[in-house]
Amino acid sequence: MTEFDLIQRFFAAQPVARDDVVVGIGDDAAVLAPPAGQQLVVTTDNLVEGVHFAPETDPAAVGHKALAVNLSDLAAMGAEPAWFLLNLTLPRPDAAWLEKFCAGLFALASAHGVQLVGGNTARGPLNISIEAHGFVPEGEALRRDGARPGDSIYVTGELGDAALVLRHRLGTHPLSGSDFDAIRERLERPTPRVREGRLLRRFASSAIDVSDGLAADLGHVLEASGVGALLVRDRLPLSPTYRAHLAEAGWDPALAGGDDYELCFTVPARHDAEFTRWQPKFGCRVTCVGEIVSGPGLQIVDAAGNRYEPQRSGHDHFVASP
Ligand code: ADP
Ligand code: MG
Repeated sequence: MTEFDLIQRFFAAQPVARDDVVVGIGDDAAVLAPPAGQQLVVTTDNLVEGVHFAPETDPAAVGHKALAVNLSDLAAMGAEPAWFLLNLTLPRPDAAWLEKFCAGLFALASAHGVQLVGGNTARGPLNISIEAHGFVPEGEALRRDGARPGDSIYVTGELGDAALVLRHRLGTHPLSGSDFDAIRERLERPTPRVREGRLLRRFASSAIDVSDGLAADLGHVLEASGVGALLVRDRLPLSPTYRAHLAEAGWDPALAGGDDYELCFTVPARHDAEFTRWQPKFGCRVTCVGEIVSGPGLQIVDAAGNRYEPQRSGHDHFVASP
C-alpha cells in the first residue's frame, strides 16, 4: 500500500460531510468557512504508543480516544466541534489495524458531526496526533480565569475509574474480571462531554476538562482565576465499582489519577436557577464538590472537615509518579 493509497482508502472517504468544508482532503490544504459571528476554538493532543496506550490496546479504542481527548478540550471551552486534522505516524501500513482504528475514530466523529478535513501521514513509531476545531459565539468561550469566591464547584460524571483500570493494567491494584469489564471503557473510550460543555456557556464562570486529575486541573483554574478552593473529598462522585474498592484504593485515583475526561466547572450563585433549569439536559450526573474561596490554593477536607492531602498531585509527563 502506498501513502496515497492509504490516505484514499482510509481517510478520504468518511461518514461526515459538512456544508462549511469548501475543500477537504485531497488538496494542499483545507478551505473552511466558519460561521459569521463565531470565534474559532482550536486544540491539539496526541496519543503515543507505549506512553498513552499499551501496544495491545484495541485499535478502535485508540481511534476513539485520539479524537475524544480533543473533543473534551473543545467541550471545556464551551465550543461546538466542527473539523479535525489527523497527523498519523505509523511503523507500517497495517490495513487490519487501520480498519479498526478508523471504525473507532469515525464512529465518534459521526456522533458529533465533526469532519476530518486533512492531515499528514508518515512512517515512524505509532503516534496519533489530532487537531480539532470548533466554534463559540463571540466572547462566550469558557475560560479558566473566571472563577470567583462564592462560586460552587461541580464535576460531570464520575472520577477515578480510568486510573483504577490503569492500576489494574500496571498490576498495582488488580481488579476482578467483572470489575474490570465494568469500568475499562472509562480508560479506553472516554465520553467527551460536548453537549454539557455547550450548555455550560449559559451559567458557568469557568471550566476545565479533568485529564490530569481533579486536584491538578482545578489547581489550574485557581491559579488562572487568582482564587482558592475548598474541596470536600467525600463528595467526589464515584462509580459503584470504585466504591467497592475505595477502602483499598483510597481517594487518590479520583483526586489525582488522570484520564477522567470529565468537566470541572464553577457556577456563581446568581446563575443557580439557570443551572437548575438546564441540568436535566445533561447526559450525565453533575455533582457539587466544593466552593471557590478567596484564600489561595486548594484545601481538601474529608467529611468530618479534617484536612486531607492526596499522596500524589496528578499526572505530569516529566515528573515521576509513585
Ligand atoms: P502534501 O504533500 O501536499 O502535504 P499529502 O500527500 O501529505 O499532501 O496529503 C494529501 C492530502 O491528504 C491532503 O489534503 C492532506 O491533508 C490529506 N491527508 C494526508 N494524511 C492524512 C491523514 N492521516 N488524515 C487525513 N487526511 C490526510
Ligand atoms: Mg502540498
